[in-house]
Amino acid sequence: MNDMTSQRIALFGATGSIGSQTLSVADSLGLSLDVMTAGSRDREFEVQCRKYRPRIAAMADADAAARLRVSLADTDITVYGGSDGVVEAAAETDADAAVIAISGMAACRPMIEASRRCRRICMANKEAIVAAGGYLLAAIRDGGAELLPVDSEHSAIFQSLAGNRKSDVEKLLLTASGGPFYGKKRAELEKLTAKDALAHPTWSMGKKITVDSATLMNKGFEVIEAMHLFSVPASKIEVVIHRESIVHSMVQFRDHAIIAELGVPDMRTAIAYAITYPAREPGCAGSVDWRTLSSLTFGVPDTETFPLLAFAYKAAEAGGTCPAVMSAADEIAVGAFLRGEIGFTDIFDVVMDTVGICGRGGEASFDEIVAADTEARIRAGELSRRIER
Ligand code: NAD
Ligand code: MG
Repeated sequence: MNDMTSQRIALFGATGSIGSQTLSVADSLGLSLDVMTAGSRDREFEVQCRKYRPRIAAMADADAAARLRVSLADTDITVYGGSDGVVEAAAETDADAAVIAISGMAACRPMIEASRRCRRICMANKEAIVAAGGYLLAAIRDGGAELLPVDSEHSAIFQSLAGNRKSDVEKLLLTASGGPFYGKKRAELEKLTAKDALAHPTWSMGKKITVDSATLMNKGFEVIEAMHLFSVPASKIEVVIHRESIVHSMVQFRDHAIIAELGVPDMRTAIAYAITYPAREPGCAGSVDWRTLSSLTFGVPDTETFPLLAFAYKAAEAGGTCPAVMSAADEIAVGAFLRGEIGFTDIFDVVMDTVGICGRGGEASFDEIVAADTEARIRAGELSRRIER
């Protein structure tokens, strides 16, 4: 579509980091909002709703939704509440694009519903794809929507693959900044706090994903995400440390030519591209300044000090419920770390031990994956409390 101003989007997870950056893209491109959803922060969500005037607003927290309904009584916005309300909002939108910026497994039902009437799903969520990517991608295809990745690495790979034959791909090269603790050794990691982990060198993101970047778990998730999105085995996905986060990822073809997408580290570029593809609209993020950018560096990840990246490859290979258990355990461990209850390296142990206790390889149904997610949260919680100092 050429005229972006007539585009309507549905935004799931508006109050989050990706959600608020999507609203900044909407400002820049003149997009209108058909549906907006959020979790529990009704005050913040009310301000967003007043500004963007969606037809439907939904909140997963039913009490927050009830408060929102009262505070928006002077508007013509319809408010739905509870996780069923979020799903109902997804079922009722026929927006041009649905941006899925809800974190965790809660994104599953809304994304499947939205795929039935929306032309396009712009997928930011990664936990649900890691846990149940095979099922979810098939459901989105059945729904009839096309899927565009928002995660910057996957957007870069999507762009690098354009115009090439899938059979000519030799490997995907996922770049990783290495996070704030790059170069540190195990003994140094043990003393680190949430404040240290939240100081990401290049990207500005939500807290959970920022800690996942520091442990390299995020890169492990992205390997599995890439497997599903591009139907490539883990053995053909290589992680490359690239501190500057300018090269967002690359594809190497069998003639050994490498195609990459480069830009400043700002998620709004990938969000906008997913919405406007194949068009490119004037950027709302900055551009690379070649006069000040003196070098682009590359290296190999230290998987001995940061074991969760190598562990993610093992979980991917085992399949079944292992990726789901790994992701759920990580969410619990990162939560405990952010509250100061466990140390940074304890995250490694909680994740790996939980998969050891309740991960099952092989085939797993969608319902088994959802049940494994629930069990993993309980087990990971028990393990975290045992560690608590
Ligand atoms: P966030 O925690 O900042 O925001 C999450 C959003 O989801 C919030 O609006 C919250 O209200 C909503 N939400 C949470 N639980 C919900 C539930 N049960 N039901 C309905 N809504 C719920 O997270 P984020 O950093 O914006 O990340 C969102 C997703 O995008 C994650 O899956 C993350 O891995 C992925 N992602 C984020 C970035 C980034 O730069 N932040 C980059 C790539 C991918
Ligand atoms: Mg990423």
